[in-house]
Amino acid sequence: MAIKFKHDLTANYGVAESLSPLITRVLCNNPSPYTYTGTSTYLVGAGASLAVIDPGPRDLDHCAAILRAASGRKIDKIMITHSHIDHSPLAKILSEKTGAPIYGFGPHGAGRKGGLEGEEVEAGADWTYKPDIRVTDNQTITGPDWTITAVHTPGHTANHMCFHLKEENTVFVGDHIMAWATTVISPPDGDVRHYIQSLKKLSDRDPDILIPTHGPWVKNAKPFIRGIITHRHMREGQILKHVGLGLSTIEDLVDVMYKTVDKRLHPAAARSVLGHLIALVDEHKLLCDGPVGLGAHYYPRQTQ
Ligand SMILES: [Zn+2]
Repeated sequence: MAIKFKHDLTANYGVAESLSPLITRVLCNNPSPYTYTGTSTYLVGAGASLAVIDPGPRDLDHCAAILRAASGRKIDKIMITHSHIDHSPLAKILSEKTGAPIYGFGPHGAGRKGGLEGEEVEAGADWTYKPDIRVTDNQTITGPDWTITAVHTPGHTANHMCFHLKEENTVFVGDHIMAWATTVISPPDGDVRHYIQSLKKLSDRDPDILIPTHGPWVKNAKPFIRGIITHRHMREGQILKHVGLGLSTIEDLVDVMYKTVDKRLHPAAARSVLGHLIALVDEHKLLCDGPVGLGAHYYPRQTQ
């Protein structure tokens, strides 16, 4: 029998919403241009013990709402998609209250190779996050009535993991994929090339539905992922074109490429453009007048 899902997600803060036989959502009251309606914390399991995915920011009201949603059942695993302040900080408090260990790929920066000199400390990183159990790619974690396979999906952050729920063929995708906005790839922890590889890796698992931590679920998972890959190639084509036409700074590129996007998101857009520029300079498709960074100047190869 086909599993029934509820898709008309509205912002019911702090309320337990049953969205499928195994999945309950509790929405945190932290809406913003980056979190959309807020952080969706998911409880997985219909039996006596549950897993919680992405408890969210350090918000004690939200912690109480998660415990209420468990309604007496034991929370015995906490899983973290990645170390951003709207996903992981509450894990420690929830773990102290329930005794549940925290599962994740590793602390912020785990999985990253090297770094960028002169880059400012990233906004939004949760440097306090430390999983109790370090999960490797393709590792399976089980509960009484659910089976989750962890999939390492670097790109948004180097330590990003998605969690594939076998029984419903759905994947909790954290910030790897969203239905309402494109994912920010902020170097040095974010990496555009890894991001595209991780999208393909997820698509190869052939999930039916993707469940982002922010915003609505994604049906038709594979065509949607293909669309994101196409969008990234389009952005990269735009960068090559505009640098070719003489735009040399990230600020100018963002003004042109993101002119229809909310200005409050332009700093994040700048970091995503930087992510593409790092890859393009690295692959010798563009030149840079010094260390690759937000303030550098970029040039087409043929004019040098
Ligand atoms: Zn994030």
